[in-house]
Amino acid sequence: MIGISFTHTTMAARKRIALVAHDNCKVFLLDWAERQKERLARHELVATGTTGLLLNKRLGLPVESMISGPLGGDQQLGARIAEQRVDMLVFFWDPFEPQPHDPDIKALLRVAAVWNIPVACNECTADYLLSSPLMEQAHEYRVPDYNAYLSSRR
Ligand code: PGA
Repeated sequence: MIGISFTHTTMAARKRIALVAHDNCKVFLLDWAERQKERLARHELVATGTTGLLLNKRLGLPVESMISGPLGGDQQLGARIAEQRVDMLVFFWDPFEPQPHDPDIKALLRVAAVWNIPVACNECTADYLLSSPLMEQAHEYRVPDYNAYLSSRR
C-alpha cells in the first residue's frame, strides 16, 4: 500500500456546506434547515439538484445546485470535496431504501472521509455540527498531502 502523508489546511469561518437528502429524507432536511436558517445563512450552501431547489424555495437563501443526485450530482459534490471546495457535508441518506446510485453515495461518503471534512448523516448530528463554536471561526485540520504523494510516486 502507498503510504499517505498529511499536511494541514484551514477552513474559513464562512463555511461551504454541501447538502443532500434522499427523497424519503427531504422533509427532515427541509425542516432541519428551516430551524437552522439563521445559522445556515452565515455560510455558503451547495446541494444536489432537487435538494437545492427545495431548500431555496423553503428558505429563500441562495443555494448553488448541482445536477440531481441520481444523474451525477453526488459525484459533482465529491469532486468539489477532493478539490477542497467544500468544508462540510450534511447528507441525509435513506437507511431504509436502496438507491439506484448507491455507488455514487458510497463514493461521496468515502471522499469526505479521505479529505477529513465533518459529515452529518442525520438531524441530531447536524445540530451538533451547526452549534459548534468551530462553525464561526477559521479551523485548521489535517488533509492528505498531495504534493508529498506525487513525490513519493516519482
Ligand atoms: P437530489 O439528489 O437532491 O437531486 O434528489 C439527492 C440524491 O439522491 O443523491
